[in-house]
Amino acid sequence: MKIFLMIFFVKTLIYALSFEVTNTNIANGASSLLTFDKEKNIVYQKITLDKKSFPIYPNPVDGTKMYAFVAVSYYAKPKNKTATIHYTKNGVKKTEKIALKIIQGAYKKESIHVTKSKVNPKKKHSLRISKEYHEAMKIYATATKENFLSSKFVLPLNSFITSDYGKARVYNDTLKGYHSGTDFRAKIGTPIIASNDGRIVLVKDRFYSGGTVIIDHGQGIYTCYYHMSAFKVKQNDKIKKGEVIGFSGKSGRVTGPHLHFSVRIAGVQVDPLQFVKLMNGTLLRKKNEKKMKDK
Ligand SMILES: [Zn+2]
Repeated sequence: MKIFLMIFFVKTLIYALSFEVTNTNIANGASSLLTFDKEKNIVYQKITLDKKSFPIYPNPVDGTKMYAFVAVSYYAKPKNKTATIHYTKNGVKKTEKIALKIIQGAYKKESIHVTKSKVNPKKKHSLRISKEYHEAMKIYATATKENFLSSKFVLPLNSFITSDYGKARVYNDTLKGYHSGTDFRAKIGTPIIASNDGRIVLVKDRFYSGGTVIIDHGQGIYTCYYHMSAFKVKQNDKIKKGEVIGFSGKSGRVTGPHLHFSVRIAGVQVDPLQFVKLMNGTLLRKKNEKKMKDK
């Protein structure tokens, strides 16, 4: 009887929901993508991990599927975790557990020397910095229901990467967090293109990030473009992938001209290149294209 129950339990675990996970090992600062088959009588709701909640949305390019990201903060510590999938079946609330492992990403350390006023900004700037921070956080916390994506992401310019996401940043010998995006070499005036379709939600010259554009791709996905010298878009513009949003520069807290490109999912800042790989390799891949291999 005991054995019978155990087998029954395992079977339930496997068959209760039909879904795929790109990676159950997630580095700090990275994400994992879960894809669910739409099924009669099942309403998918969200995935929770610790105190964070990740909504499950319709797949923007495949009407038979749903998807969710699980995004892990850069500051998360390596640990075995259990995420919970929340859904209803025939109107009855149900959950399913999934084992995930947070691993330490292979990030480097980087020492940078910049003008003192930008490391410890003068009091007169603190109000501006705080306002700009809260304005951005409000944007990232907003998930537009609609998804604007219909095809794969492209990089905002064709250039060399000069600094990877995740590098621990030491400014004038003081640890000041980590590199929150990917830097591309770009001499001043290089055209910067939208990484994908979306809506422009912020165009602003900010203290740290200089000339900044943020694009809302829908369903809590945002891409950000920093240190620009000029803008070609304004707030609320609808934008198509590949359209020029502005030109690169060296505005804000920088040592030289480049483009800083970053991504937020469900408010979590993640590795932009890993995100693009996940999106293009699974969610946005063409119908008969091979699936991206795990990891
Ligand atoms: Zn950067």
